[in-house]
Amino acid sequence: MRAILTNHLLILLLGIVLSACSPTSETVHETRFMMGTLVDFTVYDANTKNAAMAIKAAADEMQRIENLFTIYGDQNNSVKIFNNAKAGTDIKLPSEIDALLTRSMQIEQKSDGAFNPALGSLNKLWGFSQPTPPTSPPPAEEIEQIVSSSSHCLQQRADGWSRTGKSCQLDFGAIAKGYALEQGMKVLKLHGIEHAIINAGGDIRVGGSHGKRPWQIGIRHPRQPGQVIATLKISGDKSVVTSGDYERFYLYKGKRYHHILDPRLGMPASRSQSATVIADDATTADGWSTALFVMGADGLETIEKMGMDAILVDADGTIHTTKNIESRLQLSLSPPMLRTSD
Ligand code: AMP
Ligand code: MG
Repeated sequence: MRAILTNHLLILLLGIVLSACSPTSETVHETRFMMGTLVDFTVYDANTKNAAMAIKAAADEMQRIENLFTIYGDQNNSVKIFNNAKAGTDIKLPSEIDALLTRSMQIEQKSDGAFNPALGSLNKLWGFSQPTPPTSPPPAEEIEQIVSSSSHCLQQRADGWSRTGKSCQLDFGAIAKGYALEQGMKVLKLHGIEHAIINAGGDIRVGGSHGKRPWQIGIRHPRQPGQVIATLKISGDKSVVTSGDYERFYLYKGKRYHHILDPRLGMPASRSQSATVIADDATTADGWSTALFVMGADGLETIEKMGMDAILVDADGTIHTTKNIESRLQLSLSPPMLRTSD
């Protein structure tokens, strides 16, 4: 009898231990406003208290990155110090800024100048990131003056970086959000979180999965708000980032002027409506989505060569993708979307 009781107790205790090992995971959700957009954190975990703490730490880290890289607002930072330094002076940048600048310069080189991290003056002139958005384009002479002095205007020296002229100003607007997403996910992982998705206004970094299902992501239609051109099912370490001409724009004399500029012309890039890049990390996806937007469908080959995938809506609204994208990703294009190159 005693032996039977002990066995029962053992089974009961074992049951308690087992259920403690496989508790049901729950979804913890939190939204913050930063980097000019709403950032959604979704964590799928059994320990909801830890998940909430992890989200707070990740959000703080992303805010730190925004403060570190922004060229707007009143607070000083090393990027602003560089942008105001005397031309020709060597400036030692903090290692994080130095590293992101080095990565940006590589994208500039591989994209034949479609991406340029020294567009600060041009972006300020167009004014799309100013609190009061512009309503008409700036004068052509001012654009020309900046364009002629902002290509290859950064010089890497043994002891830092220098700029060749006053118009040469750093602007990490095309890549810092991706870096922030990447760091946000890193902090979640440091807190033991495996399954999460961070969505910064449609720019996404996922980790793990949503229970037994992959995370499902819709890619926005560039002309029809509320509609998607495609859905993607992804899991593991992946990022999906879109650059679109619908994010910040105005219409002037019937023409659309938006915030993604062709550095070689100094004008809003005209080959695309949206460019989505799918890469393993968000910094790469963000930098390249801007570069691809400027390059248009011709840039897909470069993306493919680097082992990434992309979906590009060209200026006519036609969808192009990297070759055989469906063999690598669970992608479904929404009918009646047509694709021309695959
Ligand atoms: P995204 O939304 O990631 O494509 O980034 C757009 C932001 O990047 C703009 O608001 C500018 O601050 C900056 N930017 C615009 N055009 C370029 C470009 N061709 N290369 C690098 N940065 C750019
Ligand atoms: Mg970008």
